[in-house]
Amino acid sequence: MSKPALDVLLARTRGFCAGVERAIDAVGHTLDRSGGSPVYVRHAIVHNQRVVDGLAARGARFVEDLRDVPKGGTVVFSAHGVPRQVEEEARARRLRVVDATCPLVRRVHHEAARQTAQGRTLIVIGHPEHVEVMGIVGRCDGPVVVVADAAEAERLEPEQASNLAYVVQTTLSVDDARRIIDVLTRRFPTITGPDIRTICYATQNRQNAVALLSRRVRRVIVCGDRASSNSNRLRELAQAANCQALLIGDAAELSRGFLEGEQAIGLTAGASVPESIVQETIARIGLWYHVTLREIGEQERSPRLHPVDFAGLDDPAPA
Ligand code: SF4
Repeated sequence: MSKPALDVLLARTRGFCAGVERAIDAVGHTLDRSGGSPVYVRHAIVHNQRVVDGLAARGARFVEDLRDVPKGGTVVFSAHGVPRQVEEEARARRLRVVDATCPLVRRVHHEAARQTAQGRTLIVIGHPEHVEVMGIVGRCDGPVVVVADAAEAERLEPEQASNLAYVVQTTLSVDDARRIIDVLTRRFPTITGPDIRTICYATQNRQNAVALLSRRVRRVIVCGDRASSNSNRLRELAQAANCQALLIGDAAELSRGFLEGEQAIGLTAGASVPESIVQETIARIGLWYHVTLREIGEQERSPRLHPVDFAGLDDPAPA
């Protein structure tokens, strides 16, 4: 029996962003230079289990706490960035450090430090439990509060209400961030902060792409780990556009039932997702349907991020 037809509309802007590729390459390069010595990575280098497993198979050891890295060992900081205290701890333990913090996250760190050094209370717009937000909070020299949604912004009673600044987590929904900023600027007219357009290019582009998909189909598959903030935002955006949206960590999580009754389906992937998962998902759909694949949307133009500094690997061995 011939298979039914299904159009798969694939977001042309999807998957790895420049910051994620840079961080993965940093671990690979550090492993290449390690001469067989263990390479530790603080936190999942990016929020994708396949990437983590692949690097672990090459010898990377993932830890959450620097106390799990032996004195004098080599550690890579993930793309999400770290609090200043973690850098100090690494120095105290005489670790060789490769810092793969995405430069776009680093830009938020600088802004957070600058605003609090100038005496402002900082509002971090983001999810308090996310590792990137913990890193941003850990860069502040003064009062800081994290606000996750517009309702929290309405309830906020900050110190120094007339001397506030805000920064935004890089992987937040642009629409959510705009809503929160609107509340903050209405309630605290003197608040200062960056233009919403300074939110990460990759986040915006992937969100624009899923919005485009959502106008063309009724169901959208988002490849991405449950721990991936930007992938979750893609799923939520599709849902907010009245689509059914499914987040899958790998192709095996896709069941045929999600596709049934549809003539076209949308497919995209978060910024931490390797293309192999997208292609395996298309292949799985092809088990059940005769697939016509159409890429839609703009081709992304990624910024050139400055290279990772590997000078820390040349530090002398500890005494
Ligand atoms: Fe950097 Fe943006 Fe990618 Fe995060 S999503 S790693 S901020 S480029």
